[in-house]
Amino acid sequence: MIKKLSIVLLYFIFSQTLFAQTNNYLRDTFLGNNKLILTFKYNIGNIKTLAIERNGLVKYIYDVKNGVLPKTKTISHYRHKGVKAFRIGQFNKECLRVVIESYSKNKKNYSINGKRLTIYLNASSQVDRNSYSAKKQHNKKNSHLKKKHKINHGKKTIIIDPGHGGRDVGASGKGIYEKTLTLEISKRLRRELQNRGYKVFMTRTYDKYLSLKDRTEYANARNGEMFISIHANAAAKGKPKQKYQGVEVFYLSLKNSDRVRKRRAYYKGKYYYSVAAYKRMTSSWKIAKSRKLARGIRSKILTNVRKRYKLNDKGVKSSDFWVLLGSTMPAVLIETGYLTHNKELINLRSKRYQERFVKGIADGIDAYYQ
Ligand SMILES: [Zn+2]
Repeated sequence: MIKKLSIVLLYFIFSQTLFAQTNNYLRDTFLGNNKLILTFKYNIGNIKTLAIERNGLVKYIYDVKNGVLPKTKTISHYRHKGVKAFRIGQFNKECLRVVIESYSKNKKNYSINGKRLTIYLNASSQVDRNSYSAKKQHNKKNSHLKKKHKINHGKKTIIIDPGHGGRDVGASGKGIYEKTLTLEISKRLRRELQNRGYKVFMTRTYDKYLSLKDRTEYANARNGEMFISIHANAAAKGKPKQKYQGVEVFYLSLKNSDRVRKRRAYYKGKYYYSVAAYKRMTSSWKIAKSRKLARGIRSKILTNVRKRYKLNDKGVKSSDFWVLLGSTMPAVLIETGYLTHNKELINLRSKRYQERFVKGIADGIDAYYQ
């Protein structure tokens, strides 16, 4: 009896150690220049790959033996030229599966360097043409899939961030706080985007204080595909108030920022971000997409609002505001107007003006995805 029990126990201990040794956790994912890099805890062992061609798409499957996906890791929000979709999942207990649906065939698929798996992606101008014709053919051949495609588009997740809140009132003019106005406009924007089929999250829905880090972490945790921060401006003290008015849209740039000091603060100091996370926040992909989004939103706001109102264009600008940097998705910050300007304050508070304004933002978002 004792002998039997000890064998069972031994088997139990053995299997537990074996299991613990082979759990190769995915530590980090990074979408770089034409490649997707996955970093694991231990050296990568066996990988099986498979390519399936269907409907003008090539589905590449990479099965990483003993790979384990922590709950917080995901790549579904990544976007890349020539790639329709990225997916990552726990295929079964012993296997982590990466799926990349590509519009074109890749020559060299992947390489392994110790703990790092690099998957190569195509991105030439030719890919764009291919992707276009593949899409076109795809839609022609499968008209019933068209509807499905539309629904998928509608499920894009947009994060709206109403600036300030709680004890942080923001700018003010004639007793009106920025925090109140940004929430009002954000709620209107949420309704407009939901009507167009987007999935929308708001960093706050009532008068509540949030740190800047709270806002970007909220967005990152919800896998937002776009981060829209809403603000309002005020003329600086001592400046002629009626001289300052108009809209401006910001996207991330580190050109004029103290990069070394900031970077140190971001991943060693108060923000505790890893080097990899910082790279993701400042990737050239994200900056290019943010710029495109900012330009589209600015132009559509002007077209919509100017149909009925005068609106000064302060243009598209770049800055290293934390909300633009800390989000891993394309991000813009909209300064909707000046609370210190008499006429603009009246406009900003009016329902009709706000409606034109948020329609402009939504048109800009639509244009970005077209
Ligand atoms: Zn503000």
